[in-house]
Amino acid sequence: MEYSIALLKGDGIGVEIVDSAVEVLTRVGEIYGHIFNFTPYLIGGTAIDETGEPLPKETVDGCLASDSVLLGAVGGPRWDDMPGDKRPEKALLGIRYALGLYTNLRPAKLFPALKGASPLREDIVGAGFDIMIVRELTGGIYFGDRGYREGKFGREAFDTEAYSITEIERIGKAAFDIARKRSKRVTSIDKANVLETSRLWRRTMHALAERYPDVEYRDMLVDNAAMQLVRDPEQFDVIVTSNMFGDILSDEASQITGSIGMLASASLGDTTRGMYEPIHGSAPDIAGQDKANPIATILSAAMMLRYSFGLSAEADSIEAAVDNVLNSGARTADILGTCDGVPIGCRAMTEKVVAALE
Ligand code: NAD
Repeated sequence: MEYSIALLKGDGIGVEIVDSAVEVLTRVGEIYGHIFNFTPYLIGGTAIDETGEPLPKETVDGCLASDSVLLGAVGGPRWDDMPGDKRPEKALLGIRYALGLYTNLRPAKLFPALKGASPLREDIVGAGFDIMIVRELTGGIYFGDRGYREGKFGREAFDTEAYSITEIERIGKAAFDIARKRSKRVTSIDKANVLETSRLWRRTMHALAERYPDVEYRDMLVDNAAMQLVRDPEQFDVIVTSNMFGDILSDEASQITGSIGMLASASLGDTTRGMYEPIHGSAPDIAGQDKANPIATILSAAMMLRYSFGLSAEADSIEAAVDNVLNSGARTADILGTCDGVPIGCRAMTEKVVAALE
């Protein structure tokens, strides 16, 4: 088969890590007989420098015309003083919106070889954990009405959380469908003891759960969930939650895996076109020094094969190659943890993963 992939390398280490994923995909294509056609488009700070816009129209059109999108990262100190709507990060909300991507999948998996890199005690980590966080991506407080007004104590700012039954249902359905392909457990996280949107969220999820009798369902309040993630992460399979709670909990979940450089993500909508990206940022402190860990982006490419192209065997082969390389003891600096030894760079790690695909 032939697939077109839009590459949004972005800023900082974005360039290095997307190049790594392209090498891995190209090799997978050779092995399995697929052709991946890559077309780069500008996004973020580099797009601002070249066009004055963080998300040029040509980029949006290019992504819409592609089968899927691979993103590196955007942002950096160079653009930090730009006004809000001209900042590189603004492009992320824009491209998700333009592509209609309302489901964000963030796996938080602790690879057994990296147990030592987790900040959690060994008895808590147990046999490792494999959590899939399903975060609503285009609604809630990040997109609600906002502004300034005169309040009880003078001038105040406000943001508004709003969710419709339709938005809750479609993200809930995505979570239940994914749970069916895993160990069939869904935890829905809300703040139903305080927020009206959470009460609607909970009622809608309960109605949906009745349509998935084979999936074990439970509710959990977000404050409890924040504690349970560090107390007993193994209890979770699929977590489904709102935009803001998902933003915070997925960062917490990423921390307990040991390295931000290992975590992939997928953003999906109603079509098979998705956007795949590592969860980390552009890491300006190590950009251009061959120190970035490319694994999060390589695993994002594996998610693309699985969720957009339905190429499960090919996705499995990338994940197995990463597992083998980690088991062989190879580490970039961010995942050195308690391992003795010399860290390798982005290039060397990429070569090892490509070689392990054989
Ligand atoms: P960051 O994720 O870029 O970096 C945090 C720390 O983790 C740094 O020490 C960095 O060196 C390290 N790190 C991150 N990815 C790594 C990798 N693959 N390998 C090894 N080490 C890695 O977060 P930050 O420093 O808060 O943000 C830097 C810039 O990135 C900011 O402009 C921010 O707005 C932007 N950002 C972009 C995205 C995105 O594009 N999706 C996400 C988060 C932050």
